Amino acid sequence: AITLVDVVKDFGGAGARDAAVVRGVNLAIGEGEFFSLLGPSGCGKTTTLRMIAGFEEPTSGQILLHGHDMVGVPANKRDINMVFQSYALFPHLSVADNVAFGLRRKRVPKDEIRDRVEKILHTVELADKADRRPRQLSGGQQQRVALARALVNRPRALLLDEPLGALDLKLRQAMQLELKRIQREVGITFIYVTHDQAEALTMSDRIAVMHRGLVEQVGPPQEVYERPATAFVAGFIGTSN
Ligand code: ATP
Repeated sequence: AITLVDVVKDFGGAGARDAAVVRGVNLAIGEGEFFSLLGPSGCGKTTTLRMIAGFEEPTSGQILLHGHDMVGVPANKRDINMVFQSYALFPHLSVADNVAFGLRRKRVPKDEIRDRVEKILHTVELADKADRRPRQLSGGQQQRVALARALVNRPRALLLDEPLGALDLKLRQAMQLELKRIQREVGITFIYVTHDQAEALTMSDRIAVMHRGLVEQVGPPQEVYERPATAFVAGFIGTSN
């Protein structure tokens, strides 16, 4: 589980809550949950995700991963992985080599690398594309390679920042279902940042709706949709953007 206790991020550094980008966020995300941070541009979603990943440190508050306080622990020691919208694959490496790259650097034994890469490519339904180069794949397929690359390390949690933002609507909708299926199959915690309420409602076990650096409501999609806790949530969920 991942727990945030009164997390504040003030890039000015003074720690003045009112001026901060994240102004005291409390969250408890369960093991194996598909959890979305939903809100308009600038509400602090990405900053919250980057603090969980370890790319930013909170000005104050605690971030607990499986009971251990992570504040000050470097990103590469947190047993979590992040997938970005710009998923930068190595163009000169095959799909399989892109996925294997991190394992080779960690000196995982060859046989184990081959097995793990094969298995994860199967999960993302790219087993038949293992020898292709990234440019020979569609946008959605490239995104699945990036996902396989993040999952092959077997992190305890995967953080995704608008990973489908660069795809056209049709592909995005197909990938939403695909991501959800993959998350169920691998069974690890996904924390998913999006400004798209339809996307969050479709994919999530629970959603945290953020506004101006605060979480206004946390709940399952149906509850957030049918019983919005604040006027902001009602307006944001009710409109399409
Ligand atoms: P978007 O969907 O547009 O990325 P967001 O909800 O993810 O929005 P954040 O990226 O967390 O929002 O940014 C929240 C605010 O913090 C923005 O006003 C942004 O300009 C500011 N901000 C983000 N990173 C920094 C930084 N390194 N230094 C100063 N201000 C920052």
